[in-house]
Amino acid sequence: MENVIIIGTGCAGWTAAIYSARANLRPLVISGEQPGGQLTTTTEVENFPGFPEGVMGPDLMMRMQQQAEKFGTRVEYDRVESLERQEDGTILLKTSGGAEHRSWTVIVATGASPRHLGLPNEKELIGHGLTSCATCDGAFYPDVPVAVIGGGDSACEEASFLTRFASKVYLVHRRDELRASKIMADRALSNPKIEPIWDSEVKEYLVDGEGDMRAIRVHNRVTGAESEIEVKCVFVAIGHDPNTSFLAGSGVEVDGEGYILQEGHSTRSNVAGIFSAGDVADHVYRQAITAAGNGCQAALDAERYIASKEG
Ligand code: NAP
Repeated sequence: MENVIIIGTGCAGWTAAIYSARANLRPLVISGEQPGGQLTTTTEVENFPGFPEGVMGPDLMMRMQQQAEKFGTRVEYDRVESLERQEDGTILLKTSGGAEHRSWTVIVATGASPRHLGLPNEKELIGHGLTSCATCDGAFYPDVPVAVIGGGDSACEEASFLTRFASKVYLVHRRDELRASKIMADRALSNPKIEPIWDSEVKEYLVDGEGDMRAIRVHNRVTGAESEIEVKCVFVAIGHDPNTSFLAGSGVEVDGEGYILQEGHSTRSNVAGIFSAGDVADHVYRQAITAAGNGCQAALDAERYIASKEG
C-alpha cells in the first residue's frame, strides 16, 4: 500500500514528489508517456526563478527528478490506464504495463498537450522554429518575422506579446473573425506589427538547410490562393488537450474541455483521496512555475488528508 502515487513527471509532478518525499511519505511516481513533460520539448527556460543565466528545459526537469529521488521518491516508467476509488477508501491504479497499485492518495499531474496541426515534419521542428509557448521562446526571435496560428485568446495574447521581439507577427486564422474576447482581439488587431492572415490554413512548414523554420505555405480557403510567408518561428496556439482520458470511469469531475475541477482553494477533486496539480487542471496560467506551485499545494493537501485519516 502506497501513501501517495503521483502520476506525471512535469514540473507539477516532480514538485509534488519533492514535498511528499520530504514529508516522509515515500511517494511513487509513475512517469507517463512523455517523461519530463512539456519542458522537455523546449530549449532554454529564462523565466524560472533562480536561474538568471537561464536553464535548458530538459536539464531543469532532470534536476527536479534528482531532487525528488534524493529524498526517497521511487519512479516507475509506465502509463496509468485507469484509477478507481475502492470501498475501503484506497485508490486502485492499473497500468498499461500490467501493474496494479493501491494508494491512500493519488496526485494527477499528467499535464496538457498542445494541439498541433498534424503536418509531416512538425516533430523535428519543435525547438527549431516551431513551438507552442511564446512566453518561453519569443525572446529567441528578435527582429525577425514570426507567425502565430489560431484565433483564440491564446493566439491574440501570444501575438501581442511577440511584438516586443519580432519585426512582424502574422496572425494566421482559418476564419475571417477571431474567437478571442473583444479586448484581446482589439489589442492584437490594433497593433501595427500584427498582420492578420484571414481564412487561411497552414499547409506546410518549409525548412532551411539547417533544418530550421524558413517559411510557411498558406492556403486561402475562400479564394483558393496559395502563398509562401517567410518566418523564423511559428507559434501554434490552437488550444491544448488535458491528458485526462484515462480518468473515464474514475468519477473524477472534469470541465467541458476535460480539465480536472479543483474544489475551492485547494487541489482536491470531487473524489476523496484524488488530487490534481498543474496544467491538467489549469488552462489559464500554464507556466512551469505555476505548475510547480500547484504541485506543492497538492502534496500538502495529500499529506493533510492522510494525517486526517490517521488521526
Ligand atoms: P481556443 O479558445 O479553443 O481557441 C483555439 C483557436 O484555434 C480557435 O480560433 C480555433 O479556430 C483555432 N483552431 C483550433 N483548431 C485548429 C486547427 N486544426 N487549425 C487551425 N486553427 C485551429 O483556445 P485558446 O485560445 O488556447 O484558449 C483556451 C481557453 O483559455 C479559453 O477559454 C480562453 O479564453 C482562455 N485563455 C484566456 C486568456 C486570458 O484571459 N488572458 C489567455 C489565453 C487563454 P476557430 O475559432 O475557427 O474554432
